[in-house]
Amino acid sequence: MIGNGVTRRRFIEAGGGAAAASLVLGASPAFAVLQGGGTAGAIGQPMPDDVELPSTPPRPRRPDSVGFAIVGLGGYALKQMMPRFPQAERAHVAALVSGNPDKLRRVGDAYGVPPESRYSYESFAELASDSRVDAIYIVLPSGLHAEWTARAFAAGKHVLCEKPMALSSAECERMIAASRRAERKLMIGYRSHFEPYNLKAMELMAQDAVGQLRLLRTEQAYRMGPTSPSENWRANRALAGGGPLEDLGIYGLQSALYLVQEMPESISATTFRPAGDPRFAEIFAHVSSQWRFPSGAVAQLATSYDSAGINFAEARGTAGALIMDPATSYSGQEMVLEGRERQEFTPGDPSDQFAGQLNHFADAIRDGAQIRTPGEMGLRDLRLMEAIYASAAGGRTVRLNPDGTMRS
Ligand code: NAD
Repeated sequence: MIGNGVTRRRFIEAGGGAAAASLVLGASPAFAVLQGGGTAGAIGQPMPDDVELPSTPPRPRRPDSVGFAIVGLGGYALKQMMPRFPQAERAHVAALVSGNPDKLRRVGDAYGVPPESRYSYESFAELASDSRVDAIYIVLPSGLHAEWTARAFAAGKHVLCEKPMALSSAECERMIAASRRAERKLMIGYRSHFEPYNLKAMELMAQDAVGQLRLLRTEQAYRMGPTSPSENWRANRALAGGGPLEDLGIYGLQSALYLVQEMPESISATTFRPAGDPRFAEIFAHVSSQWRFPSGAVAQLATSYDSAGINFAEARGTAGALIMDPATSYSGQEMVLEGRERQEFTPGDPSDQFAGQLNHFADAIRDGAQIRTPGEMGLRDLRLMEAIYASAAGGRTVRLNPDGTMRS
């Protein structure tokens, strides 16, 4: 609970100090109850729709700017992250990796990446001798994160890996071990930890702004258009895991943890998959879970690929409620504290989160700053997702250890 030193410490330890020796290797993901998936490797895709490439190649802003190789030129890389590099003082795009030669050429020309720093998945290992590259940003479908992170460490580079870190806690453990062996940094792209509204929310909750927290609710959803596992990696179990939880619900899971500021002691969950809908041949349509915390607070987390859009978080305590709607978007955040009075917050520009996380990783690489969203945090979250799926599959409440591993 907020203000309870013991549970706050447990929360921090679970996200920041997991000892590799205590981790269980080789556990299979709990969503393995689903059918299908198969194996899938990295393959080139067409240029996404509505990409605006820079008209003039951006230049590094500081001599000690960290050079990033971008692996996977998809929607998030090309429409959100790469256009934000020029806003980051200490980070620049130095190399590209893509399986589509035409896209590689067009993006490389627009961002001023020299032809010798443009790679295919086959030539990826040559990055090891590219001195322009300090760090590799893995922004591939989620089921490929673990493999390409391992390859990036083998090339001797630091790794910024998109969320979810991987699709099982066992993969996360291997990624953390690879980072330690290579003596290179690993950060997870949890952008909300660099976004002014969510940072303010963490501060308010640490100050007990709602009194003692009792109820927490997060909802993340959108309605997926007609598709199938072979057309869309997000519907494919091997690349997406159970689906909406790894993709959207992870923001609600993250918000729950940083708003409550303790680890849950038990989880009970339900999943739903309609029959005969090709979108959900391999993944779930909805995942809903209830968490109980040692302080007595309870949380309700719901996520769906088949309902009208929402991105919401609410923390309700004995003295008021903090309401975030939308809570963790790219932009447009709104946050209200309802208590004796109603207070609206406008703590900054949400779009600072992108450059914020790049600068933070650059500071970790250049100055040894401690990473706010390390691999251990990604591992903690995959353990909780596994608990959610285990609870739903077994129709039982799952009790948890303070590090998020399952007790029963
Ligand atoms: P996307 O489908 O738009 O792009 C994925 C890209 O990966 C493709 O364009 C292609 O270049 C490459 N790729 C390589 N092998 C592939 C394969 N077998 N199938 C499909 N694509 C393949 O996806 P996206 O939205 O850019 O998501 C990429 C990653 O970024 C995911 O892990 C996702 O969870 C994460 N993401 C994070 C955020 C965030 O806010 N932090 C937002 C969106 C996506």
